[in-house]
Amino acid sequence: MAFHLQFLVLLLFSCFSSIRCTSDHNLSQQPTPITPINRDLYRTSVALMEEIGALVNRHQDKLHMETFQSTNKGYKAELNVVTYCRNRTAIEDKSKFRILLSFGQHARELITSELALRILSILSEEQFLPKVDPLLLKKTLEKIVIKVVPVENLNGRKKVEEGDLCERRNGRGVDLNRNWSVDWGKKEKDFDPYEENPGAAPFSEPEAQLMRKLSMSFDPHIWVNVHSGMEALFMPYDHKNTTPSGLQSQKMKLMLETLNHNHFGDRCVVGSGGGSVGYLAHGTTTDYMYDVARVPMSYTFEIYGDEKASSKDCFKMFNPVDHLTFNRVLNEWSAMFFAMFNMGAHQMMDPQESTPFNMDHLISIDDYLNGYLIERKNRYGEKKEFLDLGLQEIRTYFRLFLLSSVMLMFMFCSRIAKSNRSHLPSISL
Ligand SMILES: [Zn+2]
Repeated sequence: MAFHLQFLVLLLFSCFSSIRCTSDHNLSQQPTPITPINRDLYRTSVALMEEIGALVNRHQDKLHMETFQSTNKGYKAELNVVTYCRNRTAIEDKSKFRILLSFGQHARELITSELALRILSILSEEQFLPKVDPLLLKKTLEKIVIKVVPVENLNGRKKVEEGDLCERRNGRGVDLNRNWSVDWGKKEKDFDPYEENPGAAPFSEPEAQLMRKLSMSFDPHIWVNVHSGMEALFMPYDHKNTTPSGLQSQKMKLMLETLNHNHFGDRCVVGSGGGSVGYLAHGTTTDYMYDVARVPMSYTFEIYGDEKASSKDCFKMFNPVDHLTFNRVLNEWSAMFFAMFNMGAHQMMDPQESTPFNMDHLISIDDYLNGYLIERKNRYGEKKEFLDLGLQEIRTYFRLFLLSSVMLMFMFCSRIAKSNRSHLPSISL
Protein backbone atom coordinates (compact mmCIF):
# COMPACT_ATOMS: atom_id res chain seq x y z
CA MET A 1 0.00 0.00 0.00
CA ALA A 2 2.79 2.36 1.02
CA PHE A 3 4.55 1.50 -2.23
CA HIS A 4 1.44 2.31 -4.23
CA LEU A 5 1.05 5.64 -2.52
CA GLN A 6 4.69 6.49 -3.13
CA PHE A 7 4.40 5.48 -6.74
CA LEU A 8 1.32 7.63 -7.19
CA VAL A 9 3.07 10.61 -5.61
CA LEU A 10 6.08 10.01 -7.85
CA LEU A 11 3.92 10.04 -10.96
CA LEU A 12 1.90 13.05 -9.97
CA PHE A 13 4.82 15.19 -8.88
CA SER A 14 7.37 14.45 -11.52
CA CYS A 15 8.70 17.42 -13.44
CA PHE A 16 7.10 15.96 -16.45
CA SER A 17 3.69 16.27 -14.90
CA SER A 18 1.32 19.16 -15.00
CA ILE A 19 -0.81 18.06 -12.08
CA ARG A 20 -0.60 20.17 -8.98
CA CYS A 21 -1.52 17.92 -6.06
CA THR A 22 -2.85 19.38 -2.85
CA SER A 23 -3.45 16.20 -0.89
CA ASP A 24 -0.49 16.75 1.44
CA HIS A 25 -1.87 20.17 2.26
CA ASN A 26 -5.26 18.70 3.12
CA LEU A 27 -3.82 16.05 5.41
CA SER A 28 -2.20 18.61 7.64
CA GLN A 29 -2.98 22.23 8.34
CA GLN A 30 0.66 22.87 9.25
CA PRO A 31 2.37 25.12 6.69
CA THR A 32 4.71 23.12 4.46
CA PRO A 33 8.38 23.88 5.16
CA ILE A 34 10.00 25.20 2.00
CA THR A 35 13.62 24.19 1.43
CA PRO A 36 15.73 27.07 0.09
CA ILE A 37 18.42 26.57 -2.58
CA ASN A 38 21.47 25.06 -0.88
CA ARG A 39 24.21 27.49 -1.88
CA ASP A 40 26.93 25.16 -0.60
CA LEU A 41 26.00 22.78 -3.40
CA TYR A 42 24.48 24.87 -6.18
CA ARG A 43 26.02 27.78 -8.01
CA THR A 44 23.98 30.66 -9.38
CA SER A 45 23.53 30.48 -13.15
CA VAL A 46 25.96 33.40 -13.54
CA ALA A 47 28.62 31.66 -11.42
CA LEU A 48 28.00 28.37 -13.23
CA MET A 49 28.46 29.95 -16.66
CA GLU A 50 31.58 31.78 -15.44
CA GLU A 51 33.04 28.51 -14.21
CA ILE A 52 32.24 26.81 -17.51
CA GLY A 53 33.77 29.79 -19.38
CA ALA A 54 36.96 29.48 -17.32
CA LEU A 55 37.08 25.71 -17.96
CA VAL A 56 36.72 26.30 -21.71
CA ASN A 57 39.52 28.90 -21.60
CA ARG A 58 41.84 26.47 -19.83
CA HIS A 59 41.20 23.78 -22.50
CA GLN A 60 40.93 25.61 -25.80
CA ASP A 61 42.44 22.61 -27.60
CA LYS A 62 39.30 20.57 -26.76
CA LEU A 63 36.51 22.97 -25.81
CA HIS A 64 34.97 26.10 -27.18
CA MET A 65 31.85 28.08 -26.36
CA GLU A 66 29.43 30.03 -28.52
CA THR A 67 26.56 32.26 -27.45
CA PHE A 68 23.44 32.59 -29.60
CA GLN A 69 20.70 35.16 -29.12
CA SER A 70 17.15 35.51 -30.33
CA THR A 71 14.35 38.01 -29.65
CA ASN A 72 10.59 37.78 -30.04
CA LYS A 73 8.34 40.77 -29.29
CA GLY A 74 10.87 42.29 -26.94
CA TYR A 75 11.57 38.99 -25.16
CA LYS A 76 15.27 38.12 -25.42
CA ALA A 77 16.82 34.71 -24.92
CA GLU A 78 20.44 33.60 -24.91
CA LEU A 79 21.80 30.13 -25.49
CA ASN A 80 25.34 29.10 -24.50
CA VAL A 81 26.66 26.06 -26.33
CA VAL A 82 29.92 24.33 -25.42
CA THR A 83 31.47 22.09 -28.08
CA TYR A 84 33.87 19.30 -27.19
CA CYS A 85 36.17 17.79 -29.78
CA ARG A 86 39.37 16.07 -28.65
CA ASN A 87 41.21 17.55 -31.60
CA ARG A 88 39.59 20.90 -32.31
CA THR A 89 40.73 21.02 -35.92
CA ALA A 90 38.46 18.01 -36.60
CA ILE A 91 35.35 19.73 -35.27
CA GLU A 92 33.63 19.84 -38.68
CA ASP A 93 34.55 16.24 -39.49
CA LYS A 94 31.18 14.74 -40.37
CA SER A 95 32.46 11.18 -39.91
CA LYS A 96 32.50 11.76 -36.15
CA PHE A 97 29.74 10.55 -33.89
CA ARG A 98 27.70 13.59 -32.83
CA ILE A 99 25.99 14.01 -29.48
CA LEU A 100 23.76 16.88 -28.40
CA LEU A 101 22.90 17.28 -24.70
CA SER A 102 20.66 19.90 -23.15
CA PHE A 103 20.30 20.65 -19.43
CA GLY A 104 18.07 23.00 -17.48
CA GLN A 105 15.15 23.20 -19.93
CA HIS A 106 12.90 23.37 -16.89
CA ALA A 107 14.00 26.22 -14.66
CA ARG A 108 13.60 24.57 -11.24
CA GLU A 109 15.72 21.47 -12.10
CA LEU A 110 19.05 22.95 -10.99
CA ILE A 111 20.79 19.61 -10.52
CA THR A 112 20.76 18.99 -14.28
CA SER A 113 23.05 21.99 -14.98
CA GLU A 114 25.45 20.83 -12.26
CA LEU A 115 25.66 17.53 -14.16
CA ALA A 116 26.51 19.49 -17.34
CA LEU A 117 29.48 21.06 -15.54
CA ARG A 118 30.59 17.66 -14.22
CA ILE A 119 30.50 16.11 -17.71
CA LEU A 120 32.49 19.04 -19.16
CA SER A 121 35.06 18.74 -16.33
CA ILE A 122 35.53 15.05 -17.15
CA LEU A 123 35.82 15.83 -20.87
CA SER A 124 38.50 18.44 -20.10
CA GLU A 125 40.30 15.79 -18.00
CA GLU A 126 40.24 17.96 -14.89
CA GLN A 127 38.05 15.32 -13.22
CA PHE A 128 38.11 11.58 -13.73
CA LEU A 129 35.63 8.75 -13.65
CA PRO A 130 36.49 5.95 -11.22
CA LYS A 131 36.58 2.40 -12.65
CA VAL A 132 36.98 3.61 -16.24
CA ASP A 133 39.97 2.59 -18.32
CA PRO A 134 41.53 5.94 -19.45
CA LEU A 135 42.81 4.36 -22.68
CA LEU A 136 39.37 3.07 -23.61
CA LEU A 137 37.86 6.45 -22.77
CA LYS A 138 40.45 8.24 -24.90
CA LYS A 139 39.67 5.91 -27.83
CA THR A 140 35.96 6.68 -27.56
CA LEU A 141 36.46 10.43 -27.20
CA GLU A 142 38.57 10.53 -30.37
CA LYS A 143 35.53 9.44 -32.37
CA ILE A 144 32.98 11.93 -31.08
CA VAL A 145 31.92 15.56 -31.06
CA ILE A 146 29.66 16.66 -28.19
CA LYS A 147 27.63 19.83 -27.92
CA VAL A 148 26.43 20.72 -24.43
CA VAL A 149 23.80 23.33 -23.58
CA PRO A 150 24.40 23.76 -19.82
CA VAL A 151 21.36 25.99 -19.09
CA GLU A 152 18.77 25.98 -21.87
CA ASN A 153 16.28 28.13 -19.95
CA LEU A 154 18.43 30.92 -18.50
CA ASN A 155 15.55 33.41 -18.09
CA GLY A 156 13.39 30.92 -16.15
CA ARG A 157 16.37 29.89 -14.06
CA LYS A 158 16.84 33.53 -12.98
CA LYS A 159 13.24 33.54 -11.68
CA VAL A 160 13.99 30.45 -9.60
CA GLU A 161 17.08 32.13 -8.20
CA GLU A 162 14.97 35.15 -7.27
CA GLY A 163 12.80 32.88 -5.10
CA ASP A 164 10.17 31.39 -7.42
CA LEU A 165 11.36 27.86 -6.64
CA CYS A 166 8.48 26.09 -8.44
CA GLU A 167 8.97 27.85 -11.78
CA ARG A 168 9.60 25.45 -14.63
CA ARG A 169 8.66 27.69 -17.58
CA ASN A 170 10.72 30.26 -19.48
CA GLY A 171 11.01 33.97 -18.68
CA ARG A 172 7.55 34.70 -20.06
CA GLY A 173 5.66 31.71 -18.77
CA VAL A 174 5.91 29.15 -21.60
CA ASP A 175 6.87 25.51 -20.99
CA LEU A 176 9.76 24.96 -23.40
CA ASN A 177 9.05 21.23 -23.43
CA ARG A 178 5.58 21.87 -24.91
CA ASN A 179 6.58 24.49 -27.52
CA TRP A 180 7.76 22.10 -30.28
CA SER A 181 5.71 21.16 -33.31
CA VAL A 182 4.95 17.43 -32.93
CA ASP A 183 1.31 17.25 -31.79
CA TRP A 184 1.66 20.81 -30.46
CA GLY A 185 -1.12 22.36 -28.41
CA LYS A 186 -3.19 19.22 -27.85
CA LYS A 187 -4.69 19.30 -24.38
CA GLU A 188 -5.34 16.26 -22.22
CA LYS A 189 -8.13 16.17 -19.61
CA ASP A 190 -5.60 16.89 -16.85
CA PHE A 191 -3.98 19.76 -18.78
CA ASP A 192 -2.75 22.53 -16.47
CA PRO A 193 -2.52 25.78 -18.48
CA TYR A 194 -0.12 27.25 -15.92
CA GLU A 195 2.51 24.50 -15.86
CA GLU A 196 2.16 23.26 -19.42
CA ASN A 197 1.54 26.52 -21.32
CA PRO A 198 2.62 25.54 -24.87
CA GLY A 199 2.97 29.16 -26.10
CA ALA A 200 1.14 31.01 -28.88
CA ALA A 201 2.36 28.66 -31.64
CA PRO A 202 4.97 25.96 -32.23
CA PHE A 203 8.42 27.56 -31.82
CA SER A 204 6.95 30.83 -30.58
CA GLU A 205 9.75 30.92 -27.99
CA PRO A 206 13.27 32.12 -28.86
CA GLU A 207 14.82 29.35 -26.73
CA ALA A 208 13.03 26.66 -28.77
CA GLN A 209 13.96 28.39 -32.05
CA LEU A 210 17.63 28.46 -31.07
CA MET A 211 17.58 24.80 -30.03
CA ARG A 212 15.90 23.78 -33.29
CA LYS A 213 18.52 25.63 -35.35
CA LEU A 214 21.28 24.02 -33.32
CA SER A 215 19.86 20.54 -33.89
CA MET A 216 19.39 21.15 -37.63
CA SER A 217 22.93 22.44 -38.19
CA PHE A 218 24.66 19.89 -35.93
CA ASP A 219 22.55 16.89 -37.06
CA PRO A 220 23.31 14.71 -34.00
CA HIS A 221 23.18 10.93 -33.73
CA ILE A 222 22.21 11.13 -30.05
CA TRP A 223 19.99 13.73 -28.39
CA VAL A 224 19.38 13.81 -24.65
CA ASN A 225 17.05 16.23 -22.89
CA VAL A 226 18.10 16.11 -19.23
CA HIS A 227 15.44 16.73 -16.56
CA SER A 228 14.73 15.89 -12.92
CA GLY A 229 11.63 14.95 -10.90
CA MET A 230 12.02 11.17 -11.01
CA GLU A 231 14.56 8.56 -12.11
CA ALA A 232 13.79 7.54 -15.66
CA LEU A 233 15.26 6.83 -19.08
CA PHE A 234 12.65 7.82 -21.61
CA MET A 235 12.49 7.38 -25.37
CA PRO A 236 9.79 8.54 -27.79
CA TYR A 237 6.92 8.97 -27.81
CA ASP A 238 5.69 11.47 -25.27
CA HIS A 239 2.50 12.30 -27.17
CA LYS A 240 1.32 8.68 -27.43
CA ASN A 241 1.67 5.75 -25.09
CA THR A 242 3.76 3.63 -27.45
CA THR A 243 7.36 3.46 -28.60
CA PRO A 244 8.14 3.78 -32.34
CA SER A 245 8.18 0.54 -34.35
CA GLY A 246 11.22 -0.89 -36.11
CA LEU A 247 14.77 -1.96 -35.51
CA GLN A 248 16.08 1.47 -34.53
CA SER A 249 13.51 1.73 -31.76
CA GLN A 250 14.55 -1.70 -30.46
CA LYS A 251 18.17 -0.55 -30.42
CA MET A 252 17.27 2.58 -28.49
CA LYS A 253 15.40 0.56 -25.91
CA LEU A 254 18.17 -2.02 -25.60
CA MET A 255 20.68 0.75 -24.95
CA LEU A 256 18.49 2.18 -22.19
CA GLU A 257 17.91 -1.22 -20.58
CA THR A 258 21.64 -1.97 -20.61
CA LEU A 259 22.50 1.41 -19.08
CA ASN A 260 19.76 1.03 -16.47
CA HIS A 261 21.04 -2.41 -15.50
CA ASN A 262 24.73 -1.50 -15.39
CA HIS A 263 24.45 1.88 -13.66
CA PHE A 264 21.24 1.96 -11.64
CA GLY A 265 20.49 -1.67 -10.73
CA ASP A 266 17.36 -1.50 -12.92
CA ARG A 267 15.71 1.07 -10.66
CA CYS A 268 14.95 3.69 -13.37
CA VAL A 269 11.71 3.65 -15.31
CA VAL A 270 12.49 2.74 -18.95
CA GLY A 271 10.20 3.18 -21.95
CA SER A 272 8.23 5.76 -23.86
CA GLY A 273 7.57 8.98 -21.98
CA GLY A 274 3.85 8.83 -22.75
CA GLY A 275 3.54 5.14 -21.88
CA SER A 276 5.57 5.18 -18.65
CA VAL A 277 4.57 8.36 -16.84
CA GLY A 278 0.83 7.77 -16.94
CA TYR A 279 -0.14 10.82 -19.01
CA LEU A 280 0.70 12.18 -22.45
CA ALA A 281 2.80 15.27 -23.21
CA HIS A 282 2.35 17.16 -26.50
CA GLY A 283 4.87 19.36 -28.30
CA THR A 284 7.94 17.94 -26.56
CA THR A 285 11.51 18.37 -27.77
CA THR A 286 12.37 14.68 -27.83
CA ASP A 287 9.36 13.75 -30.00
CA TYR A 288 10.47 16.46 -32.48
CA MET A 289 14.08 15.31 -32.42
CA TYR A 290 13.02 11.77 -33.27
CA ASP A 291 10.15 12.39 -35.71
CA VAL A 292 11.25 15.53 -37.56
CA ALA A 293 14.99 16.12 -36.96
CA ARG A 294 15.43 12.33 -37.38
CA VAL A 295 17.93 11.95 -34.58
CA PRO A 296 18.28 8.15 -34.46
CA MET A 297 18.65 8.03 -30.69
CA SER A 298 16.46 10.60 -28.98
CA TYR A 299 16.05 10.46 -25.22
CA THR A 300 14.79 12.27 -22.13
CA PHE A 301 16.59 11.37 -18.91
CA GLU A 302 15.14 12.20 -15.50
CA ILE A 303 18.08 12.09 -13.14
CA TYR A 304 16.66 12.64 -9.64
CA GLY A 305 13.37 12.97 -7.77
CA ASP A 306 12.33 13.04 -4.13
CA GLU A 307 8.93 11.36 -4.13
CA LYS A 308 8.40 12.08 -0.44
CA ALA A 309 8.81 15.84 -0.77
CA SER A 310 5.74 18.04 -0.71
CA SER A 311 4.59 19.34 -4.08
CA LYS A 312 5.07 22.88 -2.71
CA ASP A 313 8.66 22.17 -1.67
CA CYS A 314 9.96 22.30 -5.22
CA PHE A 315 13.66 22.69 -4.59
CA LYS A 316 13.62 19.48 -2.52
CA MET A 317 11.35 17.66 -4.94
CA PHE A 318 13.59 18.21 -7.97
CA ASN A 319 17.10 18.55 -6.50
CA PRO A 320 19.26 16.68 -3.97
CA VAL A 321 19.62 18.82 -0.83
CA ASP A 322 22.55 17.08 0.93
CA HIS A 323 26.18 16.57 -0.10
CA LEU A 324 26.00 12.79 -0.16
CA THR A 325 23.01 12.57 -2.52
CA PHE A 326 24.27 15.47 -4.64
CA ASN A 327 27.59 13.70 -5.24
CA ARG A 328 25.98 10.30 -5.75
CA VAL A 329 23.69 11.68 -8.48
CA LEU A 330 26.56 13.43 -10.29
CA ASN A 331 28.86 10.39 -10.02
CA GLU A 332 26.28 7.86 -11.19
CA TRP A 333 24.90 9.91 -14.05
CA SER A 334 28.24 11.14 -15.40
CA ALA A 335 29.48 7.52 -15.48
CA MET A 336 26.30 6.53 -17.27
CA PHE A 337 26.67 9.31 -19.86
CA PHE A 338 30.22 8.26 -20.72
CA ALA A 339 29.08 4.63 -21.06
CA MET A 340 26.40 5.85 -23.46
CA PHE A 341 28.98 7.79 -25.52
CA ASN A 342 31.01 4.60 -25.76
CA MET A 343 28.04 2.43 -26.77
CA GLY A 344 26.89 4.97 -29.36
CA ALA A 345 30.32 5.43 -30.95
CA HIS A 346 30.90 1.67 -30.95
CA GLN A 347 27.58 1.07 -32.68
CA MET A 348 28.43 3.56 -35.41
CA MET A 349 31.91 2.12 -36.04
CA ASP A 350 30.67 -1.48 -36.21
CA PRO A 351 29.98 -2.23 -39.91
CA GLN A 352 27.35 -4.85 -39.02
CA GLU A 353 25.47 -2.26 -37.02
CA SER A 354 25.86 0.60 -39.43
CA THR A 355 23.55 -0.54 -42.25
CA PRO A 356 20.21 -0.43 -40.41
CA PHE A 357 21.40 2.64 -38.55
CA ASN A 358 22.00 4.55 -41.76
CA MET A 359 18.84 3.23 -43.37
CA ASP A 360 16.77 4.67 -40.59
CA HIS A 361 18.55 7.98 -40.92
CA LEU A 362 17.35 8.54 -44.50
CA ILE A 363 15.23 11.65 -44.56
CA SER A 364 12.45 12.91 -46.81
CA ILE A 365 13.00 15.74 -49.30
CA ASP A 366 10.76 18.01 -47.24
CA ASP A 367 12.76 17.45 -44.06
CA TYR A 368 16.02 17.84 -45.95
CA LEU A 369 14.95 21.15 -47.43
CA ASN A 370 13.69 22.40 -44.08
CA GLY A 371 17.04 21.64 -42.49
CA TYR A 372 19.00 22.95 -45.49
CA LEU A 373 17.19 26.27 -45.58
CA ILE A 374 17.42 26.81 -41.85
CA GLU A 375 21.13 26.13 -41.98
CA ARG A 376 21.63 28.51 -44.94
CA LYS A 377 19.57 31.15 -43.18
CA ASN A 378 21.83 30.87 -40.15
CA ARG A 379 24.90 31.17 -42.29
CA TYR A 380 23.95 34.08 -44.52
CA GLY A 381 21.45 35.97 -42.39
CA GLU A 382 17.99 36.97 -43.55
CA LYS A 383 18.96 39.47 -46.28
CA LYS A 384 19.36 37.00 -49.14
CA GLU A 385 16.33 37.33 -51.35
CA PHE A 386 16.09 33.71 -52.35
CA LEU A 387 15.34 32.83 -48.76
CA ASP A 388 12.21 34.93 -48.93
CA LEU A 389 10.67 32.33 -51.20
CA GLY A 390 8.35 30.21 -49.10
CA LEU A 391 9.42 26.69 -48.30
CA GLN A 392 6.34 25.42 -50.11
CA GLU A 393 7.30 27.04 -53.42
CA ILE A 394 10.86 25.78 -53.24
CA ARG A 395 9.66 22.27 -52.55
CA THR A 396 7.31 22.49 -55.55
CA TYR A 397 10.11 23.73 -57.87
CA PHE A 398 12.38 21.00 -56.61
CA ARG A 399 9.79 18.31 -57.26
CA LEU A 400 9.10 19.67 -60.79
CA PHE A 401 12.81 19.72 -61.49
CA LEU A 402 13.16 16.09 -60.33
CA LEU A 403 10.13 15.01 -62.38
CA SER A 404 11.35 16.68 -65.58
CA SER A 405 14.84 15.20 -65.12
CA VAL A 406 13.38 11.71 -64.77
CA MET A 407 11.21 12.19 -67.91
CA LEU A 408 14.17 13.42 -69.95
CA MET A 409 16.27 10.46 -68.81
CA PHE A 410 13.47 8.07 -69.72
CA MET A 411 13.10 9.55 -73.23
CA PHE A 412 16.85 9.49 -73.76
CA CYS A 413 17.18 5.84 -72.65
CA SER A 414 14.26 4.64 -74.76
CA ARG A 415 15.80 6.25 -77.87
CA ILE A 416 19.13 4.52 -77.27
CA ALA A 417 17.37 1.20 -76.69
CA LYS A 418 15.47 1.53 -80.00
CA SER A 419 18.57 2.40 -82.04
CA ASN A 420 20.56 -0.49 -80.46
CA ARG A 421 17.83 -3.05 -80.98
CA SER A 422 17.95 -2.71 -84.78
CA HIS A 423 21.64 -3.81 -84.81
CA LEU A 424 21.29 -6.80 -82.48
CA PRO A 425 20.68 -10.39 -83.70
CA SER A 426 17.33 -11.78 -82.52
CA ILE A 427 17.44 -14.25 -79.62
CA SER A 428 15.26 -17.31 -80.16
CA LEU A 429 15.86 -19.57 -77.13
ZN1 LIG B 1 11.52 18.77 -16.34
